[in-house]
Amino acid sequence: MSQYWSPIVSKLRPYVAGEQPRIANMVKLNTNENPYGPSPKALAAIREAADDRLRLYPDPSATELRETIAARFGLTVEEVFVGNGSDEVLAHAFQALLNHERPLLYPDVTYAFYSTYSLLYGVEAIEVPVDDGFQIRLADYDRPCGAIIIPNPNAPTGIGLPLTGIEALLAAHPDAVVVIDEAYIDFGGESAAGLVSTYPNLLVIQTLSKSRSLAGLRIGFALGQRPLIEALERVKDSFNSYPLDRLAQLAATAAIKDEAWFETGRRNIIASRESLVRELEALDFEVLPSQANFVFARHQSRSGAAFQAALRERGILVRHFAKPRISDFLRISIGTDEECARLVSALNEILAA
Ligand code: PMP
Repeated sequence: MSQYWSPIVSKLRPYVAGEQPRIANMVKLNTNENPYGPSPKALAAIREAADDRLRLYPDPSATELRETIAARFGLTVEEVFVGNGSDEVLAHAFQALLNHERPLLYPDVTYAFYSTYSLLYGVEAIEVPVDDGFQIRLADYDRPCGAIIIPNPNAPTGIGLPLTGIEALLAAHPDAVVVIDEAYIDFGGESAAGLVSTYPNLLVIQTLSKSRSLAGLRIGFALGQRPLIEALERVKDSFNSYPLDRLAQLAATAAIKDEAWFETGRRNIIASRESLVRELEALDFEVLPSQANFVFARHQSRSGAAFQAALRERGILVRHFAKPRISDFLRISIGTDEECARLVSALNEILAA
């Protein structure tokens, strides 16, 4: 703490990012990246554009990318907002749409950035407990509120919500903005993107970091009716004139258009997840039902921290959260089949020790 800090900085609890190791050959199952490379068409777009045009500023409105996203979801370009990762889109949403006189609601077990942004932007938030099975009970959100944010599937549990429940939530709260954070939606969940035209209070946020394998480029987007998108733009234009760089815009446009690459990749990850779940259960892990590119699992024999340390010694990175209710769990990102096999054999070794 320093006497020079503003009062808000003293109160912040910054987000702690997962480890990005400098050691080569680690099996990296800790930050939910995609184990397969991005679409070759996205890589070609970057190579083709890496020339002296980089001296020019990018399109500040990312029009071509927004048009491509709009076409994929059957929306207009004015109903699409893009940002530097969905983290930045979320940050703008917290300022532009989630800060009201009445509180913001989100689950008590969820993405850690929600509490960080609430503190940063002075949003009064109420954490609504998930049930004993770590499921979100949408009926518990039936209380006075200014806004709601829920990830579907939830993180770090991986548990998905049915679209009928989300629709009921939207209808029950016509005066509150409902943000559905769909970072992991492409691995088996039901997207709310198709509800955007019906519900003026719905904002859907997605990312190209997971199912499109472009985490390194930082691209996220939001879908919503014009007034919601305009609010995000007002905040963005008061903060940064160029949210996405030239290469990111081009690669993202090519990645969104490559449906064949996307379909194959997400199907592979879902299949690998299902076999990893079976293998973990055979080792007596309790695995929460996942619709994401990770699983959340615990074992009676050891704490999450002990497993994380023992796996790290064996060259495998997974994530553990020292938080109430979930400290005995491990979050394991779905890797290639070879990486999953290395994980399972390391777990066998640890359990036999
Ligand atoms: N939402 C959730 C629920 C996440 O887990 C993540 C990934 N850490 C994000 C948003 C942000 O992803 P990105 O900024 O890479 O788009």
